Amino acid sequence: MANRIPRVPVREQDPKVRATNFEEVCYGYNVEEAQLEASRCLNCKNPRCVSACPVNISIPEFISKVAEGAFAEAASVIARDSSLPAICGRVCPQETQCEGSCILGVKGEPVAIGKLERFVADWSRENGGVKLETVPANGHKVAVIGSGPAGLACASDLAKLGYDVTIFEALHRPGGVLVYGIPEFRLPKDEVVEAEINEVRALGVKIETNVIAGRTVKIDALLDEEGFDAVFIGSGAGLPKFMGIPGENLNGVCSANEFLTRNNLMKAFRDDYMTPIHAGKKVVVVGGGNVAMDAARTALRLGAETTIVYRRTENELPARREEVHHAKEEGIEFAMLTNPVEILSDERGWVKAVKCIRMELGEPDESGRRSPVPVPGSEFEIETETVIMSLGTSPNPLIAKTTGGLDTNRRGCIIADENGATSRPGVFAGGDAVTGAATVILAMGAGRKAAAAIHEYIQGRQR
Ligand code: FAD
Ligand code: SF4
Repeated sequence: MANRIPRVPVREQDPKVRATNFEEVCYGYNVEEAQLEASRCLNCKNPRCVSACPVNISIPEFISKVAEGAFAEAASVIARDSSLPAICGRVCPQETQCEGSCILGVKGEPVAIGKLERFVADWSRENGGVKLETVPANGHKVAVIGSGPAGLACASDLAKLGYDVTIFEALHRPGGVLVYGIPEFRLPKDEVVEAEINEVRALGVKIETNVIAGRTVKIDALLDEEGFDAVFIGSGAGLPKFMGIPGENLNGVCSANEFLTRNNLMKAFRDDYMTPIHAGKKVVVVGGGNVAMDAARTALRLGAETTIVYRRTENELPARREEVHHAKEEGIEFAMLTNPVEILSDERGWVKAVKCIRMELGEPDESGRRSPVPVPGSEFEIETETVIMSLGTSPNPLIAKTTGGLDTNRRGCIIADENGATSRPGVFAGGDAVTGAATVILAMGAGRKAAAAIHEYIQGRQR
């Protein structure tokens, strides 16, 4: 049963060209490429890919529709389980999820499930989209806090069940990390993110922007005074961490979140926008995750020579292989086994260099990874004008502090059971606000589970 057709490669922008623009790196499959790739799927009787997908898309079913050329039907199959397929097809870490479980990956290359999902979603958007069935209103109102993937997935499942859903979003544009974090060159905002959010709106979901839960509205008031039957919190984990080293408050030091938000949400990369952004000629990004890769690749496109400083080796980099590969192709430098100890300033209080120390790997820590240990006397300086800290994020404590009876753990994450129920009856939560920084599809999966639990909770109260 060996499948002899090799995985169909996907076309991408030339690295030298794309390092100077913000256009999408990956072009995706055309019709012929998609059908050829789809023909590789074995249509397994017990497809492991489906259970490895956090929203359980019927993967072999949609792929067989692609192979037949029935693209609209393929889109309808995906739409049963995902409201954001063009987004997930682009940014999901498929290699550790659906594709990581594909049987063809055991001896060769798995089916390119993500690229096929993207193809179907793009084709469908360009050809009128999936016709959504409207359901009669059931007379119940649900509030959703946050319009990231968790909130959008929860809202769309509830709307499909007839709920009157309002999303309250703190920022001026919905989408969460999809709009403020992930750069345009990986995920186009107007063409892809806005279009998929409009599909959620088309289900009847209302989105109120510039509303901060815990400040503009309180969750207690939504439940007790404004007639909402339940609330879902999908407020993410947007609070950046810093190292606590001397010099972190100098001009020219910022978090990856701030740097990316200015660029992505406030369009600092465009000449017709006034948002200030400082990159300078040299940029150091501290960290080794996907966010660090995004910040570095953005700084590079703004014209800076960019170095990623990471305290372990390339083998331990938490970023996706694909992102590291793209970053290297574009010319990002990597300083491995290196850790900043101080940020140095010029006479005006601006960053001029980062003092670093060399590291070596010692014994494994509780995560199983070998701990980085400083090499005494190995300090050296890297000249730079900007330092971007990309060390992870945690949930903002505002909602937990202003909502009665809502328990959080010591990392500030809201405590919720596997269906999203929190310690406060009627309040559900999911996504990064519960798990800490994770992935788009895990946030969507949590949003969907919570929608089912909210439905059960509201139905249960009526009995
Ligand atoms: P978010 O997307 O953070 O959305 C939360 C929303 O709630 C935000 O819009 C926020 O403004 C709003 N909010 C917060 N507080 C309030 C409040 N008090 N009132 C009202 N609204 C509020 N994952 C991947 O799978 N693949 C990737 O390639 C990838 N790349 C990433 C790159 C970057 C730069 C970052 C930062 C993350 C990346 N992730 C990636 C992670 C992924 O984006 C997140 O795990 C996911 O977006 C979490 O979804 P969420 O809905 O829980 O939260
Ligand atoms: Fe197709 Fe791979 Fe899923 Fe099997 S595991 S159904 S081959 S995508």
